[in-house]
Amino acid sequence: MIEDKNPQRTQLSDLGEFGLIDHLTKNFKITKSSTVKGIGDDAAVLNFENKQVVVTTDLLIEGVHFDLSYMPLKHLGYKAVIVNLSDVYAMNAVATQVTISIAVSNRFPLEALEDLYAGIETAASIYNIDVVGGDTTSSNKGLLISVTAIGEVAADDVVYRSGAQPNDLLVVSGDLGAAYMGLQILEREKEVFKVNPNNQPDLEIYTYLIERQLKPEARKDIIKLLKDLDVKPTAMIDISDGLSSEIIHLCKQSQVGCDLYEAKIPLDPQVIAACEEFNIDSTTIALNGGEDYELLFTISQKDFPKIKANPSLTVIGFMKDASAGIDLVTRAETKIPIKAQGWKSITD
Ligand code: ADP
Ligand code: MG
Repeated sequence: MIEDKNPQRTQLSDLGEFGLIDHLTKNFKITKSSTVKGIGDDAAVLNFENKQVVVTTDLLIEGVHFDLSYMPLKHLGYKAVIVNLSDVYAMNAVATQVTISIAVSNRFPLEALEDLYAGIETAASIYNIDVVGGDTTSSNKGLLISVTAIGEVAADDVVYRSGAQPNDLLVVSGDLGAAYMGLQILEREKEVFKVNPNNQPDLEIYTYLIERQLKPEARKDIIKLLKDLDVKPTAMIDISDGLSSEIIHLCKQSQVGCDLYEAKIPLDPQVIAACEEFNIDSTTIALNGGEDYELLFTISQKDFPKIKANPSLTVIGFMKDASAGIDLVTRAETKIPIKAQGWKSITD
């Protein structure tokens, strides 16, 4: 469906491993004062002085986590970085460096990897992080990409999943369910394309959904906003699997219960329209759809006045004693226990 815009095909074997690494990484610039040595030695050297360091890794596998028939490689490179930065921000930390490891089969020409690295470079420059290393190897089949992200945070500012207290408010950034609906649209178009390759789909009305799936953003802005508002969340997690499984993680690790208000869950109008079209319940999608990369956090009630006017933040629930359980309070004011149902929990 997405045209190969780079028709040249240079075999990777023409460059050799070291030539390839040099070629892919030559544009990366070091901008962070914490990077002492980046790419080019046996290991990177970092200096965080008196900060605490957070480290997180994700592995993405072709056919499991992404499908190159609708995911352009440039977007994949971007997204592979973003999903890791999201985990750094979820600790209330600032992302500073990443390393990138790839395994590629000989099906990929150099130009494909250039596209992948163009996406990585874009993410690095937008999010102001250094690429300080990685590894390059071959795979028998398909593409694997693993990113490790590093971040820094003052010891007093770290936020864990475990700090929520009864009576805290549950807050979410942005809106939910759009990335999952974007995936549904792309999967549907892929099937249509198989039957009729000349069909030019009109995806205009789904722009936001597709962008959320193919080009997600991590909420660096929310970490800064909370700092500016002088709000330190009591607990925080990023939403990669779906609201319900993330709420359960927060509640279990904090040993609290929660009432989540269905009527408060923020949904974009495009999500509501697509759910109607696909005949699925939008609350189910917000609860169980994945890959929104929004931040879910709890705050003390005394901080409510500081966040209440902000359009990027929505209070969606109320933390309770563990004995109260974890419930969805529906629009009809009935309570339904929330169950974990990450949409791809088996493969994650
Ligand atoms: P080693 O043999 O010690 O693993 P490499 O030759 O694999 O070293 O790597 C040389 C340098 O290039 C190192 O700094 C490494 O971190 C970096 N590097 C290797 N592959 C990648 C990659 N795919 N992306 C970014 N940096 C890489
Ligand atoms: Mg190596």
